[in-house]
Amino acid sequence: MSANQQMAANRINISTEEKRLIDQMLLMDAPTRTTLSQALEVSPAWITKSITPLIDREILEETGSAAHSGGRRARTLGFGKAVGYLLGVDFGATSLSLALAGPNRDILARSHTSIEIKDGPGICLHAFNEMAQSLLDEINLEKSQIRGIGIGVPGPVNFTTGRLTSPPIMPGWDDYPIPDVLMADFKGASVVVDNDVNMMALGALYHGEGIGANNIIFLKIGSGIGAGIVCKGELYRGSIGCAGDVGHIIVERDGPLCHCGNRGCVEALAGGLAIAQEANRIARSGESQELSRMITSEDVFLSAEDVGVAAAQGDLASLELIDRSGQYIGEMLTHLVSFYNPDLILLGGGVSKIGHRLINTIRQVVLKGASPLATRDLRIEYSQLGEEAGLYGAIRLAQQSLFQVFEDNDVSR
Ligand SMILES: [Zn+2]
Repeated sequence: MSANQQMAANRINISTEEKRLIDQMLLMDAPTRTTLSQALEVSPAWITKSITPLIDREILEETGSAAHSGGRRARTLGFGKAVGYLLGVDFGATSLSLALAGPNRDILARSHTSIEIKDGPGICLHAFNEMAQSLLDEINLEKSQIRGIGIGVPGPVNFTTGRLTSPPIMPGWDDYPIPDVLMADFKGASVVVDNDVNMMALGALYHGEGIGANNIIFLKIGSGIGAGIVCKGELYRGSIGCAGDVGHIIVERDGPLCHCGNRGCVEALAGGLAIAQEANRIARSGESQELSRMITSEDVFLSAEDVGVAAAQGDLASLELIDRSGQYIGEMLTHLVSFYNPDLILLGGGVSKIGHRLINTIRQVVLKGASPLATRDLRIEYSQLGEEAGLYGAIRLAQQSLFQVFEDNDVSR
């Protein structure tokens, strides 16, 4: 059996009608038959007819009682045993986080470690396997009970194949068959791989500030800069999956050389690495006493977060550095706002820890640059989910991807 066939076999077959119900279930927290029929605008009879076979197959189950509202207590519904357990995985440039969740995405155990993604898939997936195994041991589960694995990676992913395409900071991962390799170990799981920023956008959409927003730009400012785009409540990946690669929008012609080969990309001017490099230059040139003081030994390399700390002390050079970065990011976002008219822009990633000065500058630049109509109801906020956003998104995507529509009437039920 090929990896694709195995993946299809590991998914749960449902009919188009059942998919409608499952999709709605994924949007609601502990729905009842009544709230489901209201949300879908269908009759209670339709709900009963559709739910019964799903309960028989243990895809759904009755999970408890809804709050009392007179009369009989309604039973709440959730996902059942057949959905199994889910693993959310967040690979960063230098970190790996895992969360193990139950059928209703309730996180049961989690762990975090430092890795170097540039060490390649052999070493990194070995670390993943060890962490996954210890999480399983922690709550007494077998690998075979994992039905869905969602993995966020810091590089461009062909979403259909789950393979990375020429990832700039992930040598050795290009076209590496992550899903196939994982399925050799987790034989019953469906594996889905996506860009880390898309995972964060999904996390924010379903678990964070994005709830209720329709059109969101989730901007991750880490070492690099990238965006996850939510369009009409759904993640938008573009034609082949690389939508949101906004770090290489040019904001200064003849600016510094970017690793992509062009000059003046916003990432090369205002990404975490760019800020850190400039901070280290300033510190060593003596232009800032505050930053110089942080260099306690030859091999100290200041981070963007250190710039935030120095700025909070009133360090002028650090404040200027933050303002300049905010200006570049704001200019890039102004173009996006004019083009896309989002209702919410969320900022995440390591640089968001730099503090409020950065986001205030960004807000000012966008408000000044974009049209009043486009910014009238626009919110620009830091994502409060922090590093959790990627894990929530990965678990969510793992579960969504577990279901496939199978129209053969012979499907066993
Ligand atoms: Zn570039």
